[in-house]
Amino acid sequence: VSTTPDAGTLVNGSTKPNGHILPTISEQIQIINDDKNFTPDLSAQLERWGLRDAGFNYNVVAVFGSQSTGKSTLLNRLFGTTFDVMDETKRQQTTKGIWMCRGKGMSVLVMDVEGTDGRERGEDQDFERKSALFSLASSEVLIINLWEHQVGLYQGANMGLLKTVFEVNLGLFGKKAQDGPQSRTLLLFVIRDHIGVTPLSNLQTTLTADLTRIWDSLSKPPALAQAQLSDYFDLAFTALPHKILESQKFEDEVAKLRERFMDKTLDNFVFKDIYHKRIPADGVAVYMENIWQQVQSNKDLDLPTQQELLAQFRCDEISSGALIEFNEQAKSQKRPIEAGKVVQGLGELMRNWRDQALARYDRDASRYHNGVYTRKRLDLYATITSTLSPLFLGQLKNLHKACLSTFKATLQNLLSPSGGGTNFADVVGEAKTECEESFVKVAQEACIEDKDWSWEEELSLLKEEVENVADVFRKDETKKMINLIERNFKKQISEPVELALNSGTLDMWDKVLEMFKKLLDKAESSYLTKAKTFNCTEEENTNSLAIIRRRAWQALRAKIDEQTTDAVILSKLRVHFEERFRYDDQGVPRVWKPDDDIDGAFKKAKDQTLALIPLYANIEPQDSSLEYTLPPAPPSSTPEEEIDFSSSLTIFSETKCMDLSTRFRRDADAYYVEAKRSTVSSIAQ
Ligand code: GDP
Ligand code: MG
Repeated sequence: VSTTPDAGTLVNGSTKPNGHILPTISEQIQIINDDKNFTPDLSAQLERWGLRDAGFNYNVVAVFGSQSTGKSTLLNRLFGTTFDVMDETKRQQTTKGIWMCRGKGMSVLVMDVEGTDGRERGEDQDFERKSALFSLASSEVLIINLWEHQVGLYQGANMGLLKTVFEVNLGLFGKKAQDGPQSRTLLLFVIRDHIGVTPLSNLQTTLTADLTRIWDSLSKPPALAQAQLSDYFDLAFTALPHKILESQKFEDEVAKLRERFMDKTLDNFVFKDIYHKRIPADGVAVYMENIWQQVQSNKDLDLPTQQELLAQFRCDEISSGALIEFNEQAKSQKRPIEAGKVVQGLGELMRNWRDQALARYDRDASRYHNGVYTRKRLDLYATITSTLSPLFLGQLKNLHKACLSTFKATLQNLLSPSGGGTNFADVVGEAKTECEESFVKVAQEACIEDKDWSWEEELSLLKEEVENVADVFRKDETKKMINLIERNFKKQISEPVELALNSGTLDMWDKVLEMFKKLLDKAESSYLTKAKTFNCTEEENTNSLAIIRRRAWQALRAKIDEQTTDAVILSKLRVHFEERFRYDDQGVPRVWKPDDDIDGAFKKAKDQTLALIPLYANIEPQDSSLEYTLPPAPPSSTPEEEIDFSSSLTIFSETKCMDLSTRFRRDADAYYVEAKRSTVSSIAQ
C-alpha cells in the first residue's frame, strides 16, 4: 500500500465487518486481483470518491504496456494517483491485476493494467486478452505505453498486445457498430525515453504503418472485410524525454500532456464525448463487474445486452429507491381513510407523491438504455397506481357515506317544523342535487387516473341509496299527513254523529252517512292536494286513500260505539220514552188524573220507544242512495287491520236487541208504576 505526500487529502481506511480494509479516498483499489476475481467494493469506493451521482460527467482511461515501462509512474504524474511504482532498489514486480484510482481533482477513473504482456514473460496471454476486452468495453482512452526503442519492432510484445486489442475490438463493436454503445476509442501512444534523434513524426509514421499492417493481417468476418482501423479507433501520439537523464524536460512534457486530459478547450483534448461509453456513473460498478464476469466465463461479450442487463438491474434499484419515500407518503393517509375519513385534497396529495416518485426515478434511470428505462417506468407507474388505488376507493366509499348522511340530515332539518321546507318534492330535489354535486366534486378531485379509475359506479350506488332514503322520508311524511287528516276527521265527525244519534229520527242514519261522506271527500281531496307536492306514486296514492277511508270508517264506528254503549243507549231510550210518556204533545209535563188513560199512553210511548231499537241496530239510511260501502283495500296495501265491513254495519245483534228491549221494559215499567202511584196519592189527598 502506497503512501502519498499530500496527507491532507488522505482519509484513514475503515475496516469493514468482513475484515477487508476499504482503501482511503486517495488510495488505489485492486478491482481485479491475481486470481482474476472482481472486487466487491468498487461500488462503495465510487461512492467514497464522490462519483456516484456524476451521471455521464466522468471519464475512464486505462493504460497498457509492457512490464516496467513506467506506466504507473506516468499515471501518477498525469492524474495525481497513487499507483504502486516498482521500487528501483529491489526491482520487484508489482502485483498483477487491474488497479483503479480516482484522478486527483478530476472526475476520472484511472485503470492501471498490470501484467498484460504475458508474451514477454511467456505466460498468461489469457489475462492479456481478458483485460483488453474489459478495458475496451469501459474506457474512452487507452494509453499505449512503450519505449522508443520498441517502435518498429513488429515482433515486439507491444505489437502482439495491439493485435489482441484489435481482434477483441472487432468482436465487441464490429457487428454492432450502429446500434451498440459508443464504439470509438482513442489509442494514445506515449513513447517513453524519447531521445529526440528520430522526430516524433517519424515514429508516428512507423507506428501507424505497423498498426495498419496488423489490422490488415487480422482475419475478419466477411461482413467486416472492408472495415478500416479508423472506423473504430482514433490514434494520437506523444513522446516523453528520459525521466532520469532529462528529468526537468520530462516533468515539463508530462505537465503539458496532463493539460490535454484536463482542458476541454484544447484541440487535442483527450476525453472527447464520442469516446464516452455512456454508462451512468451510478451503474459503472455493476457494469464493470458484469463485463468481467462475462469475460471471465469466456462467454461472448455482447455489449448491447450487457447495457440492457445493467439498465434492468439499475432501473429496478432506482425504482425501488423511488418507491421508499412514496410508500411512506401513501401510508400516511391509509389510516385516516380506513377510519372512514374523507381526506381533503387527496387527489393533489396523491398526484404529488406520484410525480415526486417518478421524478426521482427519471433523474437517475433516464440515463440508462431507453427501452428498459421506459418499460421499468411503466412498471413503477403501475405499482404506484396500485398502491394508490385502495386510497382512492376508500375515499369514494367514505365520501359516499358522508354524502348520504349529509343528505339525511338536510332532509331532517328542512322537514322539521322549523325547517321551512314547504314543498317536499322541492326540498328533496334540492338536497339530492347538492348531495350528488358534492360527491362528484370530491370524487373527481381524487380520481387522478382516468384510464382505470372511475367513480361513476359509486355515484350510481349513492343515487340509489339517496332515492331509498327519500322514499323512506316520503313514506314517513305521508304517514304523518294521513294521521293528521284522520285526527281532523275525528274531530269533525264527532258532534254531528252525536246529534243525529240523539235525535232517534228515522233519517238519523241518512244524516250520519251524509256527513260521513262529506267529511271523507274533504279528507281525500286534502290528501290529494298535499300528495302532489310529495311526488307520490299512483300506487302510493291508492294505498293512502284506502287507509284514509278505512280509518274514517273506523272513526265513525268508534263514535257510534261510544254513542251506543248499554248505558248511553238505555239513557237515550229512557229520554225518548219519558218525552212521550211524561210530557204531552205540547211538551208540558203530565199530571195524571184517575180517569186518564195511563195504560194507553204507556203502551204507546213504550212501543214507539221499542221501535227505536231496531233503528239503532243497523247503519241503514232511509234513502238507499246514501248507503256507503267501504271499497275493498288494494292488493298492494299492507293490511293494518282487516275490517269486516258488512258486519260493521250492524250495531246490535238480534240477541242484543232483545236484551236491550227487556232492560228498557223494566225501566219503563218503573215509570208506569210511578205514574200509577202518583194518581193514587193524589186521590188519597
Ligand atoms: P510499470 O511497471 O510500467 O508500472 O512501471 P513503473 O512505473 O513501476 O516503473 C518502473 C521503473 O521504471 C521504476 O523504477 C521507475 O522509476 C522507472 N521509470 C519510470 N518512468 C521512467 C522513464 O520515463 N524512463 C525511465 N528510464 N525509467 C522510468
Ligand atoms: Mg505499474
